[in-house]
Amino acid sequence: LPPVIAIDGPTASGKGTVASLVAEKLGFHYLDSGALYRLVALGSQKASIDPKNGPELGILATNLVISFKNGQILLNSEDVTEVIRTESIGLRASAIAVHPEVRQALVGVQHSFRTIPGLVADGRDMASVIFPDAVLKVFLTATAEARAERRYKQLIAKGISVKLADLLHDLQERDARDSSRGTAPLLVAEGAKVLETSELSIDQAVKTVLDWYQS
Ligand code: C5P
Repeated sequence: LPPVIAIDGPTASGKGTVASLVAEKLGFHYLDSGALYRLVALGSQKASIDPKNGPELGILATNLVISFKNGQILLNSEDVTEVIRTESIGLRASAIAVHPEVRQALVGVQHSFRTIPGLVADGRDMASVIFPDAVLKVFLTATAEARAERRYKQLIAKGISVKLADLLHDLQERDARDSSRGTAPLLVAEGAKVLETSELSIDQAVKTVLDWYQS
């Protein structure tokens, strides 16, 4: 099987940016598993399914037609690349992600990304559940304050007005839910190397992961 580099971590830790750059440098494929949960969140909102209804969400997740093409994310052939990035979809994603039915429905799609020459996968349970045989496991994190600030800058740059305090609050709520849930909680997997990025630039974080992979 092609090699996998698993990069897990909390929301807004920069793991998506780091993981996609590492993939680019190595010529590997890239899996943004959070996008899958966001797609289920969006689909369930459109279908008016209660975020607490695990069985129905599982059926929805099984039947979603998802495709990733040239940096675009399509849901039932509609371009939802931007729509799934909102804070409200992020919160809904973390609510629906607690259901084992949903997580189970997404296992096959995630495995299908593992093709030659290799894969960099980012998420919460890449190292622990989806790719336990990953050659390198990284837990990428930063303080809640550093993460809130990064997200704040991104949103302001996009012309979206937000309050830093609200972002910090949302992020802490999401962290608490992601870490305390019974199914696939966010944790440092056995054998994972912790990369604390509060004081690192993106380039430094990417370089560290590449050095770990190559050593
Ligand atoms: O990483 P991102 O913020 O896009 O993920 C959205 C939500 O999806 C997370 O808050 C988390 O609850 C869930 N998720 C998950 N397992 C993954 C990736 C994301 O439960 N592998």
